[in-house]
Amino acid sequence: MDERINLLGCGLPSLARLTEGVIGQPFRLRQLHHALYQRGVRRFAEMTDLPLALRSDLEAGYRLDLPAMPRLQRSHDGTRKALLRLNDGREVEAVDIPDEERRTFCLSSQAGCALACRFCVTGYWGAGRDLSAAEIVGQAFALREGITPEHDGSPADAAIPWERINIVLMGMGEPLLNIEAVHEALEVLSTQIGWRRMTLSTAGVVPGIERMLEWEERPNLAVSLHAPDDERRSQIMPINRRYPLGPLLEVLRSYPTSRRSALTFEYTLIRGFNDSTADARETARLIRGLRAKVNLIPINPDPVLGAEMRPPDWQVVKAFQAALVQAGVSCSIRRPKGDDIAAACGQLRAADRAARGFPQPVSLGAPTGA
Ligand code: SF4
Repeated sequence: MDERINLLGCGLPSLARLTEGVIGQPFRLRQLHHALYQRGVRRFAEMTDLPLALRSDLEAGYRLDLPAMPRLQRSHDGTRKALLRLNDGREVEAVDIPDEERRTFCLSSQAGCALACRFCVTGYWGAGRDLSAAEIVGQAFALREGITPEHDGSPADAAIPWERINIVLMGMGEPLLNIEAVHEALEVLSTQIGWRRMTLSTAGVVPGIERMLEWEERPNLAVSLHAPDDERRSQIMPINRRYPLGPLLEVLRSYPTSRRSALTFEYTLIRGFNDSTADARETARLIRGLRAKVNLIPINPDPVLGAEMRPPDWQVVKAFQAALVQAGVSCSIRRPKGDDIAAACGQLRAADRAARGFPQPVSLGAPTGA
């Protein structure tokens, strides 16, 4: 096993920390960063602007590798889901979702998630560890470069040009509970992709959003809403007890937006629980005054989520959308992509995890009707 430290995907803070005692001067760090991300160099020997002795030291102690990919699944709709193995053996999933000429890479920020949202398989399987910036960036590099598992014999896919890629931090984990690494990863990715083509999705960690307000540059922000009142939101998102809707909406009023970068509210529709037209009107009232759109996601069922977690009929979804539009809210419906390979929203998991399970089945309360 190669014990050398992997530097591919590291931003300046991680490069400085990991090469302390090897790279002394800050300008050498910037040269290394430039070689990795502006010039795309993958071998220390080719970084000819660095002194020969430094190149040898780097070669001896460090490597520049993509993460190992034990499995790559392909959906009939073109979606690809990669299982990536980290150095300590943990596994995360990353998804490449096609949309005509563009691709959206959905990346994970943690190997698991402690927030236990009721509609999410990652939350069901429980907490994992934070990913490093390099481990987050490595997912994008692996998907972009079209690598395939060594053992499956399929030829590598063609590399995807960065201009065609959007990034969403919407995979496994809550990005704002790993904010330092996520910020560093976004900085690295911003050398290839504009901030406006990157989106961070949060369950509503208010202090994390406050920290983002201090950043020089910010990605688009998506917020998981999923219910128009605290009572129901707490039932399916335990984090709402800590950061309820009042403080969450207050901090969102400070988040800079423009016509091209409105806030997105994600709203998972669960049959008979949060799918009535009255709920749609209440949602519109709640977010009034914000430059925001709503993305409706009929829940993607999964055996571990229980029988209550099923999507409404299509006409109920359309009626919900129509009620929002009538109330002046821009609203789209996310069609499931990659659901045949469990790559759709809320379906990511790492296959080797032990089940956390729920102590008691959670009742979602009486149907609200349409
Ligand atoms: S929806 Fe996001 S925040 Fe909630 S449990 Fe799943 S991964 Fe965690």
